[in-house]
Amino acid sequence: MADYDVDLFVIGGGSGGVRASRVAAQHGARVMLAEEYRVGGTCVIRGCVPKKLLVYASRFRAEFEDAAGFGWTLPHATFDWPTLIANKDKEIARLEAAYTATLEKAGVAIVKRRAVLADAHTVQLADGQRVRAAYVLIATGGAPSYGDPIPGIEHAISSNEAFHLPRMPTHVVVQGGGYIAVEFAGIFAGLGAHVTLVYRGENILRGFDDDVRQHLRMDMEKHGIRVLTGCKVAAIERTGARFSAHLSSGNQLTADCVMFATGRRANVAKMGLEEAGVAIAKNGGLAVDEYSRTSVGNIYGIGDVTNRVNLTPVAIREGAAFADTVFGGKATAVDHTNVPTAVFSDPEVGAVGLTETQARSRLARTDVYKAMFKPLKATLSGRDTTVLLKLVVDGVTDRVVGCHVVGEGAAEMVQVAAIAVRTGASKADFDATMALHPTTAEELVTMRQKSATYAREAAE
Ligand SMILES: Cc1cc2nc3c(=O)[nH]c(=O)nc-3n(C[C@H](O)[C@H](O)[C@H](O)COP(=O)(O)OP(=O)(O)OC[C@H]3O[C@@H](n4cnc5c(N)ncnc54)[C@H](O)[C@@H]3O)c2cc1C
Repeated sequence: MADYDVDLFVIGGGSGGVRASRVAAQHGARVMLAEEYRVGGTCVIRGCVPKKLLVYASRFRAEFEDAAGFGWTLPHATFDWPTLIANKDKEIARLEAAYTATLEKAGVAIVKRRAVLADAHTVQLADGQRVRAAYVLIATGGAPSYGDPIPGIEHAISSNEAFHLPRMPTHVVVQGGGYIAVEFAGIFAGLGAHVTLVYRGENILRGFDDDVRQHLRMDMEKHGIRVLTGCKVAAIERTGARFSAHLSSGNQLTADCVMFATGRRANVAKMGLEEAGVAIAKNGGLAVDEYSRTSVGNIYGIGDVTNRVNLTPVAIREGAAFADTVFGGKATAVDHTNVPTAVFSDPEVGAVGLTETQARSRLARTDVYKAMFKPLKATLSGRDTTVLLKLVVDGVTDRVVGCHVVGEGAAEMVQVAAIAVRTGASKADFDATMALHPTTAEELVTMRQKSATYAREAAE
């Protein structure tokens, strides 16, 4: 690799790029990383981390309300959006500095510029500098997509801008049915806005278990979020300081913030990929093999730009696996099955493994166990909410193949349940595990009554 300026050039300093750079450098590679915006990428700067901070902020409203049933009398609580945003920005800046320091300590050279491919071994920086690299890793992530163009789309914001609104909106229209849309609907509603979620499909959270989708929608509506499905925003018009969102159903909504969370596209455009011969997959991301290698032998792609499973821990795992494969002498493929996922909505969702529908289409026999009940805390708080816990079991092997939870602590529960699902625990193992009382999670090991059994032959 002596003929090259560096052994590895990483384009993109997000979750995947940062981890790949650090591990490759630890394996002895000479690494350079280019980042055009801020080190840390989507997750740290305008994704998971700032979102979760806003979610925490939004949940205090319910906590204050619930306190009354437990004997507390609180003065009228007020909320200040600029304080939240300033504190959030301070924490994000701290994290960005920490990520930068970690890279520098590992010996990674950071260039704060846009980088594109000039050819398979040459990276062109925005200032004209060219760097020759033995290997190139594309870790450029994704960006919000607004879908088909509509009149007035320039008035809509995406999640990127939602983190920097100058003031807290009072009436919000969120278009989209995915996790980002649902989460921001919960954030704005929790912070006091009137929120309408508009989604063109028949129900929110496509891809999640149908009971989860139904349950979450019901609880969101109970908590005051209006959910309109089967329609979409067809035009946005400015009316003074506010906006009118014209819906395809003919209705009109007035709002001071219209947010589109209508999906994300992989950052593959104007990257010199075509010129270098790097193939794009049907899903719009980089086409890669199980080792994240593209159609060009020395160019790899990881994270959201490959549009496989677009989550931070997956990008991180793919980054480390790439570095171990290419520079650590250990070919490592990432297992994309049984990836746990959460929606930090109100209430929260956690899920791992197969949905009931997936299990029924793939397994000879599927058993389903479900529990739905009012959580203990809600007995005194009086909050109108229920939790849902659901296990999907392979009826032939008794293996638990899916775990789905809606309710407080769902994400934390499912992170732990994911170990059991991944390691092949059976329903009998769940049953043999002692309950931890009084918790919501104990229901996962005490559900004895099947709520349904489906034999594939019978269903067909
Ligand atoms: C609102 C929101 C909430 C989310 N919440 C969660 C969550 O709760 N949990 C979870 O697991 N995931 C969440 N995600 C997804 C998660 O953020 C991504 O899966 C993850 O950041 C992907 O990492 P990455 O390294 O592939 O890309 P990114 O983190 O997007 O990093 C790519 C980097 O490349 C840079 N870049 C792009 N092009 C160039 C170029 N040509 N030259 C130089 N630099 C370039 C970009 O500026 C960016 O910093 C969320 C995403 C969003 C948008």
